[in-house]
Amino acid sequence: MDFELSPEHRQWRSAVHAFCAAELQPHAAEFDERAEFNAEAVRKMAPLGLLGMLVPEELGGAGLDMLGAALAVEELGWACGGSALSISAHNGLGCGPLVLFGSDEQKRRWLPDLASGKNGLAALGLTEPGAGSDLNSVQTRAERLGKEWVISGSKAWITNVSVASLVITLCRTKPEGGSHAFSLIVVPVDSPGLHVGPPEKKMGVRASPTHAMTYDGVRVPFENVLGEPGQGLPQTLKVLDGGRISIGALSVGLARAALEAAQRYAQERTAFGVPLASHQAIQWMIADAATQIEAARLLVHQAAWLKDQDRPYTLQAAQAKLYASEMAEVVCRNAIQILGSYGYSSEYPVERMYRDARLMTIGEGTSEVQRMVIARRVLATEL
Ligand SMILES: Cc1cc2nc3c(=O)[nH]c(=O)nc-3n(C[C@H](O)[C@H](O)[C@H](O)COP(=O)(O)OP(=O)(O)OC[C@H]3O[C@@H](n4cnc5c(N)ncnc54)[C@H](O)[C@@H]3O)c2cc1C
Repeated sequence: MDFELSPEHRQWRSAVHAFCAAELQPHAAEFDERAEFNAEAVRKMAPLGLLGMLVPEELGGAGLDMLGAALAVEELGWACGGSALSISAHNGLGCGPLVLFGSDEQKRRWLPDLASGKNGLAALGLTEPGAGSDLNSVQTRAERLGKEWVISGSKAWITNVSVASLVITLCRTKPEGGSHAFSLIVVPVDSPGLHVGPPEKKMGVRASPTHAMTYDGVRVPFENVLGEPGQGLPQTLKVLDGGRISIGALSVGLARAALEAAQRYAQERTAFGVPLASHQAIQWMIADAATQIEAARLLVHQAAWLKDQDRPYTLQAAQAKLYASEMAEVVCRNAIQILGSYGYSSEYPVERMYRDARLMTIGEGTSEVQRMVIARRVLATEL
């Protein structure tokens, strides 16, 4: 086995790290406090390839593999959890369905602008006020009328939609239900009848805009459907498999940043005449964090590698997301513990990281949903 990254992957990771350290990390606290999207930093991401990580090079993207994307998202998460969530969602959830299921014409029409950031980001609208984990309960309807879809319903908790040019929307296209009842349809955000609500007031990832939306008879051309009508649910599950690797990577980045802050503090601050880092209780928290971060990163890289080999990876993506997100919560919690009262203050970054990490066990499938995915596959294995 070879655990070394290729020279190209190492070079890419250092370039993204340098960008994040200069453009994102120094401003993460202020954008969190103002609950504001860091539009300027995101604009600067396009030339580096961060807005089209999985988009083929001939369409203006970076043409990365999943491992390359995971390396970048870890760096983004290290720098700013909110911005990382928006960029991860743009690439995986927004561009992802077009890359995976778009026709050549659809790809040429939308992906170059998304990869260049020219018209804003992309969003994916699955969740509704009454349907989150249980996507079979989605009620937003798209009816075919002549050459158009007419869409009515509402979505909730949609990342990026206020800074996006399009939202790929999971719609019920067969009222009678069943596994072929849904389709993914590309909806321009400026379509008449589409209303974006005010920003959600959130505990963390506050630099990432999240909104509810309503579709009031929104009309889009029939050809905006991705793939064959009726394929929306399996397409969505495939998109979420990739997204989970990304949330795992983001969680590793958050935990790494929290460990770095805790380590620095423990070496500077003294208690009982010695640095905090000399106390065994503190060393154990640091040792556990370093070990768990490494384990989570290996799970993330394994899932990414399997995806890049075109091998099944649903189980490994769920394991990576589950372990990394729960690990990040514990590591950030313990980082606050190591900083004591300063850890609880917004003057230090660890309380923000803790709030950001809290989302990772909820978005793109809760921990309970990941355990369902994992258990189903483990229990189906013959002993
Ligand atoms: C900041 C943020 C950004 C988001 N971005 C997006 C986005 O871009 N696009 C989008 O479509 N959605 C987005 N979401 C929504 C997110 O994906 C959902 O919140 C998530 O899937 C859970 O759905 P829910 O909140 O409706 O919880 P529910 O499905 O109502 O679940 C509530 C609780 O019950 C548990 N539960 C549910 N079913 C079971 C079961 N069968 N067994 C055991 N436990 C169960 C869940 O794990 C959870 O703990 C975002 C959410 C947030 C907070």
